[in-house]
Amino acid sequence: MDACNRCGKKLKTQKSIDVGYGPICKKKQAAEDAEFEEIQITLEEVVESGVAV
Ligand SMILES: [Zn+2]
Repeated sequence: MDACNRCGKKLKTQKSIDVGYGPICKKKQAAEDAEFEEIQITLEEVVESGVAV
């Protein structure tokens, strides 16, 4: 695979090919992953508080 998994553009560097994303998409993907984890934690907290009530 030498195309970005996010936008489908051809990756120019071996580093990007190894990661699977271009440098910009890698940042965006990392930010979304962090956001997703935050949502997961929030949901867990809601469940926990729901059980406590
Ligand atoms: Zn991309």
